[in-house]
Formats: sequence, C-alpha cells, structure tokens
Amino acid sequence: MKESLTLWGNAAAHFIFPEVCQVCSERRAGPDEGYLCADCWQNVRFVEEPFCQKCGLRFEGEINQAFECSNCKEISLKFDQARSAVHADEFLREIIHRFKYDRARFFGNFLGGLLLRKAGPELAGGGWDEIVPVPLHSRKLREREFNQAVQISGYLSESTGIPLGRNRLARVVATQTQTRLTRKQRTENVKSAFSLKREGDVEGRSFVLVDDVLTTGATTSACAQVLKKARAGRVCVWTVARATFSPQLF
Ligand SMILES: [Zn+2]
Ligand SMILES: [Zn+2]
Repeated sequence: MKESLTLWGNAAAHFIFPEVCQVCSERRAGPDEGYLCADCWQNVRFVEEPFCQKCGLRFEGEINQAFECSNCKEISLKFDQARSAVHADEFLREIIHRFKYDRARFFGNFLGGLLLRKAGPELAGGGWDEIVPVPLHSRKLREREFNQAVQISGYLSESTGIPLGRNRLARVVATQTQTRLTRKQRTENVKSAFSLKREGDVEGRSFVLVDDVLTTGATTSACAQVLKKARAGRVCVWTVARATFSPQLF
C-alpha cells in the first residue's frame, strides 16, 4: 500500500469537514486554525526552559553545570540532543491518538504546525542536511496505512526547506509496544530494530530525526545510533510532544 505524504489540501478539507472545532465540536474552526477553536488552542502548552540540555526533559528549579536529569542517568542516549514542541498532556495525547489511530489526518497540519513553531527557529541556519522520520515496521504501516512521523516530517521539511529523507531508515524488527516497559527494557527492546535503508551521503552529514512523541528517547536513540555508526555528523531529535515517563506505573 502506498503511503500518502501529501497533507490534506485546504480545499479538500473544506469539502469534507465542516468548519467546526474537531476537539470540542462547539465553536468554529477551519483548516487555517488546524481545526481547533481559539478556546481549545488555550490548552496547548509549549515546552519552555529550563529543561535537560541532552534529552529536553522539563524540570523545575535551577540547574548547575553538572546537572544530569533523571532520564539521562538511566539511559545512554545516542543522539546529540532532543527537543519537543509541546507537553504531551491529556489534551495533546488525545489529539495524537486520534491522528494516529482514528484516521483524523486533518490534525497533521496542527501537529506539524506546533513542531514548526518551536523547531523552525532552532533549525534555521543550522546547516542541517536531512530530516528523517522514525520509520514504522511494514506490518504496522499496513495496519495503520500511514506513518504519522512521515507526515509530520513532510510538513517540517516543506516549511524549513531541509530535504526529507523518508527512506533513510527502515524498521526491520516489529518490536513490542514500549508502554509497559522500564527505561532499560525500552532500550533493549528497540536496540536492533532499525537499519540503514539508504546508505549514501551519511558520513559527516547532519540529521534531524522526527517523531510524534518522545518519552525516554529509547526509540530515537536507536535510530540515532544507526546513523552515527554510519559516521553521521550531528544527529538531533525533534518531536511534537514530550511525555513524562512514569516509573510508578510498574
Ligand atoms: Zn474547540
Ligand atoms: Zn535528560
């Protein structure tokens, strides 16, 4: 099945969706607002400093030079740094869930727009060579019919002018879901899940890995490791949302 990269055109969206907020169904909102009304927009919480310089985990209070966050203490992350645009609170998780699993692909522009707002200025003029989406395993891609990371990456690529390397990586192992795993188990689970699909032009080049949500960073770290093994230069990670890993669940 061929995956469509094209975002819903506004004209098509107008035709298919009524101009009503797709979250509250109460107030007017069209494609220009990402199908979210002004009231629902108020729920979006952008990630602001202070956060861990390595993995982007937000924390309270002052940082000193030797600061190592609770996430980075437990997991050896292979990317140079990770950042996220917004907090993956209940409000955002619901939208991402509908985007991924309920075919609410019209949220792609909203989610891509959130990422662009934070990542755009940071990436501008940074000499980045390629945006690489975290790939799905082919079986999952068949089930879901599209890879949310590809759609979001496409939006970021078109908006920033950084080329999209949609076939740079492949997910060669269908890993079990990470939800119920500890940090160490997550790392182990995805350790050998990715491989380089297109080998040329990696050495010394700078990559931006993109996904929808980052929790511990285990998945994007495994992707970064593949690129670094092929002698990539810088590898940074940008995700739309940052979730907080909750070990108390286990
Ligand atoms: Zn609304
Ligand atoms: Zn960290």
